[in-house]
Amino acid sequence: METITKKLQRIQQNIPDYVSLVAVSKTKPNEAIIEAYEAGQRMFGENKVQELTQKYNDLPKDIEWHFIGHLQTNKVKYIAPFVSLIHAVDSIKLLKTIDKEAAKNKRIISCLLQFFIADEESKFGLNMKEPDTLLQSEEYRKLQHVRITGVMGMATFTNDEQKITREFQTLKRNFDELKKRYFSDNDSFKEISMGMSNDYLLAIAQGSTMIRIGSTIFGEREYH
Ligand SMILES: *Cc1c(COP(=O)(O)O)cnc(C)c1O
Repeated sequence: METITKKLQRIQQNIPDYVSLVAVSKTKPNEAIIEAYEAGQRMFGENKVQELTQKYNDLPKDIEWHFIGHLQTNKVKYIAPFVSLIHAVDSIKLLKTIDKEAAKNKRIISCLLQFFIADEESKFGLNMKEPDTLLQSEEYRKLQHVRITGVMGMATFTNDEQKITREFQTLKRNFDELKKRYFSDNDSFKEISMGMSNDYLLAIAQGSTMIRIGSTIFGEREYH
């Protein structure tokens, strides 16, 4: 079987330099993460707060941990001391909580706005108009400890490549629109987090700057 190191190298060879690779290690043991770490990987993504804090405690402190799942406001406090990017912000309420917890830790936490681009009901995210309400609100303007650095989305789980491509195009368009309207003089608004194991090449073709890959690096996940 191909090692984690080999798989990481193969992905790195297939993607442009400007695309960051988040290795999605959810459900995987520390040993697997260490192997990827020793191969040079530093950005890892998790989607459960408890699992993430446990791994943060156990593993090298120069890992950049990304939270990629749906985040409940009452759990923000556990990851606020160390998380480097929260991918899936979809409400002002969550953003305000992140701001409050970041302030307690004397940090500024980077966040992405998650957009709903798929046609599956289970996927969280903002619709196309909601970001305007959020970004124009008085509440948002008062926040000092969060920094919105881009957008994130997940395509429909399907083999229909044209459909996936259209969904990624929608996210790219939303990014461009927000950039123009709210972040034109802000260099830190630059990330488009889209693309997973099955669709990352399609995502990169549509302008992704950050891909989130789990099973292609670590193998299929087993849920117990
Ligand atoms: C699990 C997960 C991934 C990785 O999925 P793979 O198909 O295993 O690459 C990426 N993004 C999010 C939000 C996830 O929950």
